[in-house]
Amino acid sequence: MQAEQVAFDQDHRRKIQYNLGKYFSAVEAGLARFRDFEKARLQASQVKDYALNNIDDLLDQLVENMQRNGIEVYLADDEKAVLETLDNIIRQEQVRLVVKSKSMTTEEIGLNTFLEKRGIEVFETDLGEFIVQQAGERPYHIVTPAMHKSRQDVARLYHEKFGTPADADPETLTRFTRRYLRQKFVEADMGITGANFLVADQGAIALTENEGNAFMSFSFPRVHVVIAGFEKIIPSYRHLSLMWQVLANRGTGQSITVYNSIVRGPRRRGEDSGPERMVVILFDNGRSRLLEREEHRLALKCIRCGACLNYCPIYQNIGGYTYDAVYTGPIGSVLTPFFKGFKEYGHLSFACTVCRKCEEVCPVKIPLPDLLLANRRDYVEHKLSSMGERVIFKIFGLVVSIPGVFGIGLVKLKNWMIKLVEKPLWSRYRSFPDFKKPFRRRFKR
Ligand code: SF4
Repeated sequence: MQAEQVAFDQDHRRKIQYNLGKYFSAVEAGLARFRDFEKARLQASQVKDYALNNIDDLLDQLVENMQRNGIEVYLADDEKAVLETLDNIIRQEQVRLVVKSKSMTTEEIGLNTFLEKRGIEVFETDLGEFIVQQAGERPYHIVTPAMHKSRQDVARLYHEKFGTPADADPETLTRFTRRYLRQKFVEADMGITGANFLVADQGAIALTENEGNAFMSFSFPRVHVVIAGFEKIIPSYRHLSLMWQVLANRGTGQSITVYNSIVRGPRRRGEDSGPERMVVILFDNGRSRLLEREEHRLALKCIRCGACLNYCPIYQNIGGYTYDAVYTGPIGSVLTPFFKGFKEYGHLSFACTVCRKCEEVCPVKIPLPDLLLANRRDYVEHKLSSMGERVIFKIFGLVVSIPGVFGIGLVKLKNWMIKLVEKPLWSRYRSFPDFKKPFRRRFKR
């Protein structure tokens, strides 16, 4: 659907407002369980600052410890490198069926499309991800992928896909999904997960989730592959108690999520469960470019809680698909130009009123509005907007900065001229406010 259509679709807006309302109540209730959430935020921010400032040493430590734990580690600069590495493993292991737990990093590389093209069956196992996969859509939100769907939408979708009753309630649909996926976990050759954190001192990955599907994705199949951006690193497992809690509070309002796993390698001698092989692919895809920039590197502190999206007044109204990107909302508008190009995505940073709510709620204190303004500056300095847009804004800037010029001309004539260009340039769905007689003239009278 066109971004413009989605943004003005009242039914879509009602659904996300409803789901956000539930989220806000949960977060408020969750906050009451912290003695001092501000202090927790400060500490979480310091953990991530420390990790970024010592990233080379920590990555060396992580890789060394992972290899000692029997994990194969690969570094991949870009999407192509990740997919090539994965392709080799798939061939070696003769993989035919993959189960996946929610991972935005795998969305970055279009993993599902890649696997399907190779004739491999792939199943998303997080309930929200499963729903959007069945609908042939991409995740709507980094934490709640099916936020834009009502229970009736999901019931209709399941009815079409699986023949369940068209008015089935959420419990019935959840039970159905559970049975359906349980079989896939058993049959899968490979489980692919992301990592919420890479734990340097343990050579481990840490996963946090509510459904147990990530746990089954890495423990049932023969091969476990992790694809994670290198910025997910934290120095020690001792930081997890803090990081897991701030992530849970801002992500879903919980004190802590239901399942939290630290995975330190494949099955060891004497153990009778777990994967035989574990591979970690550390992904760059523009992150090094962010790291080199003094201001922008702070965006790498993100722990993907989704709070900045939920509290953003723009996101609340236009929703996730309008961004046409994997990462949406304020953090998405900062990151995407670095991951996918400034020319194509630099304009996203203008979808911000600089209200600073995102900065206020971010659990690792990322100054998102400053980074968005820095993106805007770069976009303008590199002259990435179209010539027409630059000319229009130049003229507009000149006109509004000189009150005498702004007041010239008949009000009726100006309104008539605006009406001519309003639909093609502004929007079919709303009107440009009418020009009125200049205030100074009215005041004088
Ligand atoms: S930028 Fe902050 S608020 Fe936004 S998703 Fe990342 S950690 Fe959460």
